[in-house]
Amino acid sequence: MEAALHARDKVGVQDFVLLEDFKSVTAFVENLKKRFQENLIYTYIGPVLISVNPYKSINIYNDSVIETYRNVNFYELPPHIYAVSDAAYRAMRREFHDQCVLISGESGSGKTEASKKILHYIATCNHQESNEIDRVKDRLLQSNPILEAFGNAKTNRNDNSSRFGKYMDVQFDFKGTPVGGVILNYLLEKSRVVKQATGERNFHIFYQLVEGASPEMRNALGISDDVTKYHYLNQGIQAADPSTINDKEDFATVCQALKTCDFSAEDQKDLFSVVAFVLLHGELTFNEDKENNATIALESLSAISNLVECEDSQLASALTNKSIMAEGVKVTSPLNLEQASYARDAFAKGVYERLFGWLVNKINRSLAKEKQQTKTRVLGLLDIYGFEIFDTNSFEQFCINYCNEKLQQLFITLTLKSEQDEYLNEGIEWEPVQYFNNKIICDLVDSKPTGIISILDEECLRPGATSDETFLEKLSSRLGGHPHFLSHASADVADRKNIKRHEFQLLHYAGEVTYSTEGFLDKNNDLLYRDLKELMLSTKNPITKQCFPDTELKNMKRPDTAGTQFKISLGQLMDILLSKQPSYIRCIKPNDNKQSNVFVNQIVRHQVKYLGLMENLRVRRAGFAYRRHYDNFLHRYKSLCPETWPFYKGPTKDGVSALCRHLQYTEEDYKMGRSKIFIRFPRVLFATEDALQL
Ligand code: ATP
Ligand code: MG
Repeated sequence: MEAALHARDKVGVQDFVLLEDFKSVTAFVENLKKRFQENLIYTYIGPVLISVNPYKSINIYNDSVIETYRNVNFYELPPHIYAVSDAAYRAMRREFHDQCVLISGESGSGKTEASKKILHYIATCNHQESNEIDRVKDRLLQSNPILEAFGNAKTNRNDNSSRFGKYMDVQFDFKGTPVGGVILNYLLEKSRVVKQATGERNFHIFYQLVEGASPEMRNALGISDDVTKYHYLNQGIQAADPSTINDKEDFATVCQALKTCDFSAEDQKDLFSVVAFVLLHGELTFNEDKENNATIALESLSAISNLVECEDSQLASALTNKSIMAEGVKVTSPLNLEQASYARDAFAKGVYERLFGWLVNKINRSLAKEKQQTKTRVLGLLDIYGFEIFDTNSFEQFCINYCNEKLQQLFITLTLKSEQDEYLNEGIEWEPVQYFNNKIICDLVDSKPTGIISILDEECLRPGATSDETFLEKLSSRLGGHPHFLSHASADVADRKNIKRHEFQLLHYAGEVTYSTEGFLDKNNDLLYRDLKELMLSTKNPITKQCFPDTELKNMKRPDTAGTQFKISLGQLMDILLSKQPSYIRCIKPNDNKQSNVFVNQIVRHQVKYLGLMENLRVRRAGFAYRRHYDNFLHRYKSLCPETWPFYKGPTKDGVSALCRHLQYTEEDYKMGRSKIFIRFPRVLFATEDALQL
């Protein structure tokens, strides 16, 4: 308890607000490094938790540590993810205010691990024992291995990289016991289903199924036990990966988790049939007939069609033809070789994406709270992809980085602005701090009708010969003058060599990113031919049937483009988050090689910059380094002043005033707000803390 945060730590400072040289990135990184070397991976900036991935197991996550942190004031123990979890949980209960924990950081920095630690903490918040409650907790925890199997993959950055964004609400009853949950998923990276970069894998579930299924199950699904055989599995990695992943064991875990989450044996059979269905599409090749039309190269499609129970001939026809409705009449035309391969891959991706959506829905049904539990509070967890800059950046990175702009905007709105609001509410004069507001970049992407997404939609919907090139031309002519946009056509001669003809560059808050427009229209259109949709509607497999409802075929209105859908769902997410009290966890990875005990200054420095941490600290420190509610402050230091010790009965604010006078704080040192004391310099606090130790 007395390892209070007020104090200087032996290893750097536990809260960056107490860093003397708070404007220096070097000092910031040095403090993280010092602590990291002592396995102290957590540090605060006021209420924000910074976490550095140790890439090794540290013995700081167990029930006894959980108990140490439970019901203890945030600043009274060393920084820990449990402290953030406990503070959010208690604020929810005490103030009846919904909470959310926003976890950000780049791939491999530890977001998903952090969210699991929080969920684990929450699951131990028990106020009543019952089978029903245990059941809910099991499901909340077990939803993770399922979603990770279907939504995570080995990438070059992370052996278990989340390839989708996830927001999870945990619902509590009025006693504070978890009673249910809801999961929202964002933008699954479905291109991975058909193609993987060197060194990377497809989603875990494919390998798990091939390696882990029993011989009978494999037989029933018509799959082999050799992952290297499958085109959709062997493009990035030629063999099963023995190093960190045990697919066979993981498959058993997933099957157990499915059971816990209410998937019957029948559901599991249907589910794995669809996975095999997608996998086997990678084995399909085409021949060309005399008219240059594609024909299926396989003799029989029954091994594939049986999996979802549809007609072979209809599957063959749907994979080699496309139909459109023209004035109520269906017009069918054959596909050539290239078109058929494209349609096959689009189909595999589309089916998998919808399967993932179905899975989330099904889990949500199992997490749905009992009807009688009406009044609830929620604590949300957001684990979403961090900023991405690759050698080639495409539509996916564009969406992901846009998402990060929106989250940064939220961070600014909620944290930086709330800082000003606090001064205002406390009646303390605000000394304005300049900070960069990235709204201008959000507008550049999503405003209507001038933003990039609108222009992209325009090109996707406009009849006539539109292409990635005409899209880029339009971007250049409309946005050429924007301070955060550059393209080859709009750049100065000096900048031109950095931006190729098919590229544009955005100056994001985290730095500049160059995007290749190749495939933008296609990915935004995200079309599946009608024939394939009709086929799926005719299947008897209940999952594929549900994933392709007939309302979609009847609906004459074109569905929203991928970009617009993403923009809408992000907008909804922002509304959800804005209605809650946020806590922030900013994750950092110490090196690019997944190594323990290696801290590369340059790599950390870069992340500190683009997570906006210096800005955050600057604002936090601009006026007063430290603030506490009068009662907390008085409680801690009352023994230092004869007027408040051993008994003090007056208003706490007067007590604190007496204390400050007695401690000879100068006018410069502190200010009295309505409910809190604000202390300007760390040294004043340190001196007071030292007095306590005497
Ligand atoms: P992505 O954006 O790719 O999903 P992420 O930020 O979710 O990345 P994680 O999957 O949480 O990253 O972490 C990557 C790996 O780092 C984990 O598999 C684990 O090995 C290690 N790791 C992360 N956090 C911790 C921790 N607190 N303690 C020990 N190891 C950790
Ligand atoms: Mg993750």
